[in-house]
Amino acid sequence: MEHVNKTENNKDTFIKGLSCTFELLAKSAGISSKDPQIARILDDKDPLKGFRQRFFYPKKSTLPEVDGATCNQEDDAVYLCGNSLGLMPISTPVYVQRELEKWAKTGVHGHFNGHLPWAHCDEYVVDSSARLVGALPEEVCLQSGLSVNLHLLLTAFYRPTKERHKILMEHRAFPSDHYIVASQIKLHGYDPESAIITVTPREGKECLEKDDILQTIVKRGQEIAVILFSGVQYYTAQLFDMESITTAGHDQGCIVGFDLAHTIGNTHLHLHDWNVDFAAWCSYKYLNSGAGGIGGLFLHKKWHADEMKKQGLSPLPRFEGWWSHKHETRFRMNNESDLLPGAYGFRINNPPPLLVAPLLASLEIFDEAGMDRIVEKQRLLTGYLEHLLNATVCGNRNGSPPLVTIFTPDDPKERGSQLSLTFRTPVRKINHELERRGVVCDVREPCVLRVAPAPLYNSFTDVHRFTAILQEVLTALEDSPS
Ligand SMILES: *Cc1c(COP(=O)(O)O)cnc(C)c1O
Repeated sequence: MEHVNKTENNKDTFIKGLSCTFELLAKSAGISSKDPQIARILDDKDPLKGFRQRFFYPKKSTLPEVDGATCNQEDDAVYLCGNSLGLMPISTPVYVQRELEKWAKTGVHGHFNGHLPWAHCDEYVVDSSARLVGALPEEVCLQSGLSVNLHLLLTAFYRPTKERHKILMEHRAFPSDHYIVASQIKLHGYDPESAIITVTPREGKECLEKDDILQTIVKRGQEIAVILFSGVQYYTAQLFDMESITTAGHDQGCIVGFDLAHTIGNTHLHLHDWNVDFAAWCSYKYLNSGAGGIGGLFLHKKWHADEMKKQGLSPLPRFEGWWSHKHETRFRMNNESDLLPGAYGFRINNPPPLLVAPLLASLEIFDEAGMDRIVEKQRLLTGYLEHLLNATVCGNRNGSPPLVTIFTPDDPKERGSQLSLTFRTPVRKINHELERRGVVCDVREPCVLRVAPAPLYNSFTDVHRFTAILQEVLTALEDSPS
């Protein structure tokens, strides 16, 4: 792993370095780099290996589509879908149960007593969340869901004028983000057709060139009110250079925000230092807080009501509720506005303890593991997946084109814990065969499979099993008459 760090400055050396790591390991063990023994060696050396035990990791036997004729049902599943829904920490039901019991035994007293006093339970997950996004605690709040938080932030930040009313996004942004932006534009009386600008990939490519993003900002910046990009793109797993995008946007007078759904808990983030204006995320993907988990929101300090007041500016306009108001005056019920200055001033409702408890359980694990170790393992784990795929199903087959192509960037610094694969044939049938054998990953019809090993609970052996099963499935399907 040290080897990986030292070569990180140079992209080519690093990529070669990763492959070399696996080849060298294989050579010193006197076996092929495709041998499952390599996965066991890597697992053995993995400083995070103990964290798998902190999660409920599914067995094949408990998954719905698994067919006992194709695999041993007592084996662990091959769960490579943490980009869609993370697994449940062992402590989650304990923490949730604690709040239910408090409710049963003390009723309304739970608001100000117990492990998570409900009235400000959200504040118990702020520090850890702020660490993950590289923010000051007062720049973060947890509430509602991602799409709603994006609307709340755009309500404050999207103040279009005739000259400057466009929103810049990446090509094929996540549908919800697209609908959010389009509806905000319509709300202000503009036409999304002309008001949404997208940066598109070059001919034959799926990922974006950094230069194309920055050039678009330079060329069209004066028309753009807001730039809303993802950090790690959900479809390609491309990690964008958020700092450069922010700086380029600010140079043109644009507001710059990020959707961190696939980014938080997956890569290093420094939102405050990068001077990002706003960001929002969900917590059920890499953050393992469970379906419908509570969302998060980042508001840079420079936009806080008290900072703006120093410059003679009024607070950002927003939708308010009683939780946007100072604790001290909230319960006077006199309807006099007393807005909280920071991100808390964007809260609306009283917080949901049954959603905060799972997030707390998960964030404790992130704090223990630390993003440095998580990112280091992520690069090695994704690199190992890439190495095995390239050595098998992505390879040339006696002159005929490979069965599978990876379209996620090959530079580990430009991607998250995911490889996106295109198949030459429709992927539905392939995925069905994978499911029968206990593999869980994510299908995007017609031809794309997204495979995401999560560093906290996935092992190198999971990755090896996945590639072996994929190879078996592709061979079986090729041999069977269609
Ligand atoms: C997962 C995801 C969402 C989901 O939004 P919710 O409000 O949590 O339903 C939105 N945007 C992106 C980019 C995502 O990846």
